[in-house]
Amino acid sequence: MSVVNELYQEMILEHNKRPRNFHPLPEPVKKSEGYNPLCGDRITLYIDLENGAIKDIGFQGSGCAISKASASMMTVAVKGKTKLEAEALVEKFRKMLSREIDQPFDDREFGKLAVFSGVGEFPARIKCANLAWHTLRAGLEENGAKVVSTEGETKE
Ligand code: ZN
Repeated sequence: MSVVNELYQEMILEHNKRPRNFHPLPEPVKKSEGYNPLCGDRITLYIDLENGAIKDIGFQGSGCAISKASASMMTVAVKGKTKLEAEALVEKFRKMLSREIDQPFDDREFGKLAVFSGVGEFPARIKCANLAWHTLRAGLEENGAKVVSTEGETKE
């Protein structure tokens, strides 16, 4: 087992056990919901935007360890970032999972999120890892509450 794989398992287990920012935020905040029907993962995201930056962020939900750990690490990664920086990170994370870019292990900004590059080997789990990030992107869009599904824009 490679060092990255070991680190990956450790981080997933740790964040699943003690998820960061695992709580709602008081209204009014932006709120978005994500659902991954393949695995049954659900997430509700609360985003407090101030002057174009993510002042605070929290999430609730239930799902597999990967989806929960990814959501936990996502909230840590984007807190304090501007909307544009956060959107760039969403895109980078997606590209890493789909192997469109090399694994950015030496990237300071990306940091620990690189452990998720291992998920790319398991296509069925990519949607689990991506769910929180899709939901973040939807939440950052201009108009109101959003419901996203990893199966496209269809609502069930
Ligand atoms: Zn899952």
